[in-house]
Amino acid sequence: MTTESSAYSPKNAWEVYTKPEDRDAMKALVCRYLAFLTKCKTERETIAYVQKRLAEAGFSESFEHGKVMLPMRGKSLFVARRGTAPLARGVHLIAAHADTPRLDFKQRPLVEQPTVAQAKTHYYGGIRKYQWLARPLALHGVLVKEDGSLVTVTLGEAETDPVFTIADLLPHLAQKQNLQSVADAFEGEKLNIILGHSPLVPAAGTEADEKPKEAVKSRLLDILLHSYNIAEEDFVSAELQAVPAGAARLVGFDRALVGGYGQDDRICVFTALEALLAVEEPHSTIALMLWDKEEIGSDGATGASSRFMQYCFEDMAEAWGEGQRAAHIMLQSKALSADVQAALDPDFQEIHEKQNAALLGYGPCFSKFTGSRGKYGASEADAEFLGWMRSLYNSKGIPWQIAELGKVDHGGGGTVALFLAAYGMHVIDLGPAVLSMHSPFELASVVDIYASVQAFKAFYAA
Ligand code: MN
Ligand code: MN
Repeated sequence: MTTESSAYSPKNAWEVYTKPEDRDAMKALVCRYLAFLTKCKTERETIAYVQKRLAEAGFSESFEHGKVMLPMRGKSLFVARRGTAPLARGVHLIAAHADTPRLDFKQRPLVEQPTVAQAKTHYYGGIRKYQWLARPLALHGVLVKEDGSLVTVTLGEAETDPVFTIADLLPHLAQKQNLQSVADAFEGEKLNIILGHSPLVPAAGTEADEKPKEAVKSRLLDILLHSYNIAEEDFVSAELQAVPAGAARLVGFDRALVGGYGQDDRICVFTALEALLAVEEPHSTIALMLWDKEEIGSDGATGASSRFMQYCFEDMAEAWGEGQRAAHIMLQSKALSADVQAALDPDFQEIHEKQNAALLGYGPCFSKFTGSRGKYGASEADAEFLGWMRSLYNSKGIPWQIAELGKVDHGGGGTVALFLAAYGMHVIDLGPAVLSMHSPFELASVVDIYASVQAFKAFYAA
């Protein structure tokens, strides 16, 4: 044996999946993924999509038939499929998040400024503000009327819909701004979305003093009320999100990348769902937990730090556990915190430590820990669990890689792993690499999407 044979380097997944049947399955999968990404741009839309596909596969809110899905306020969802082995052996759980960075409407959003009516926004999650300027935006969300009825909004996606936008400063007058730091040059309070421009014109013969004071806003309110049944106060009890308008697309002459909004972390929602539906008769009970609020710290009733998942485990223990306590089942469980990793950026290679950076096209990526500045805030996976996982994937020929988020002391980030670890589960982060993460047009590799489904499926089937 030469010393070379004990060296390790990750495998390029394009070189692993060369068989025609793999390439055909990859094409069909990516087709479904593009449709999903194009349609689901909010956590509510994502949860509704998942529920629909699960319902078609026989899942219901009852534990009776071994296929259960328990939604939480339309923004979070627990799914489980009973295995043939006793629940006391623990669950194979995958957790992902359905929320994505965006611009939320303020609760009193509508303002009139010279010649336009705008919506004031408060951004959600980590965005680079300049990426949201001068591009078409769509509005997705809900408004709750005073009588409790829900108005659902999806505007800016159909060919015949209008879109919305935030104007950017012209270069001719940006000399002073060009000298500012990026942090100073773009203010949150300037992320105002143009909603309208034409004034309400008083009927002929009306007195001049009867002209509305804010004529453009008045016209906008008029349209909102008569075309959409929305009054200004309705925005108070609303969750309206401005998101990039338009469809997810294949990128490159070889069509080997997917470009689209919200792939962090809908790529994991989708691939984990595909895996869950593809497993035939699971040995261990398998579960999928979809959370909201990850991008703002996982707090709130629908976030990972809530007790919702624990309550679901308690219900599951009662239904399927043959007297086992939920706490014991959780302690025995294995979990993947399915989230994306930053791909090595070809134009900013210096921010990565290349040997420990994720590469597009090299399969889903493990992260043993997240956090920043000396692993602060990380739950960190056990060497034992990582050993078990790599052995599983090597035995199945599934390509995988392992990385850290950027160079030490250059920043960092977190995932939901620590909330699973808090219950004593074995947990590690695993997910595809994404380029341009948190931008309006994130990039992922087609082969990584395919490899991630294989990886999640193998974990469920183990
Ligand atoms: Mn994420
Ligand atoms: Mn994120």
